[in-house]
Amino acid sequence: MGYNVAIDGPAGAGKSTIAKLLAKEKGYIYVDTGAMYRGLAVHFLDQGIRADDVPAVIRAVEDARVEIKYEDGTQQVYLNGNNITSRLRSEEAGRMASATARIPEVRKKLLMLQKNLAKEQDVVMDGRDIGTCVLPDADVKVFLTASVEKRAKRRYDELKEKGESCDLETIKEDIRKRDEQDMTRETAPLKQAEDAHLVDSSDMTIEEVVRAIAALCK
Ligand code: C5P
Repeated sequence: MGYNVAIDGPAGAGKSTIAKLLAKEKGYIYVDTGAMYRGLAVHFLDQGIRADDVPAVIRAVEDARVEIKYEDGTQQVYLNGNNITSRLRSEEAGRMASATARIPEVRKKLLMLQKNLAKEQDVVMDGRDIGTCVLPDADVKVFLTASVEKRAKRRYDELKEKGESCDLETIKEDIRKRDEQDMTRETAPLKQAEDAHLVDSSDMTIEEVVRAIAALCK
């Protein structure tokens, strides 16, 4: 059995940044489950399927083969044999992922993949339902959050740095909508597990958050 660290939280809380640094420091493998939902989202987008056409999404899930590989320690997502990692981070893929992640068939498709990755190796896995559903017996559970304002501002700065045009209010609205969608769905909603440590990163630096979580781990 691997040593398992679960990090859940809302969009833009910094989960992947923190999980990556923690994994590096501790020698764990970083498993990004959002990337798997985004991988299926790319599949739906490529087929021109709308998120509200649930029967079409379910049919498309059946012929999607999602594989996770690690190249130079970095997670790569393969969809039906093609590496689609570079397409995962678009706003379009994020929106589609959130809109389809509520469909039980979509979640079922990825659940075993996620559980198996954590079975044999030491992992830090981030997502929305890791501590509650995927790894209920994780050794350490963290619920990482921050205010909507802080999360939107971080995303805004990140996009600006990449030279992409963006608007703070639009980002804030998008984050609010995603939180609402993720927290109110029936299957595996985003919520803090009872035994999770709450970390509010609103007024913490990345380094402080990593230190706080590393102190909880072996
Ligand atoms: O974390 P990220 O923004 O990459 O996740 C994209 C979407 O995938 C989330 O908004 C959420 O709806 C969904 N997701 C999920 N369960 C997870 C990880 C992601 O429902 N464990």
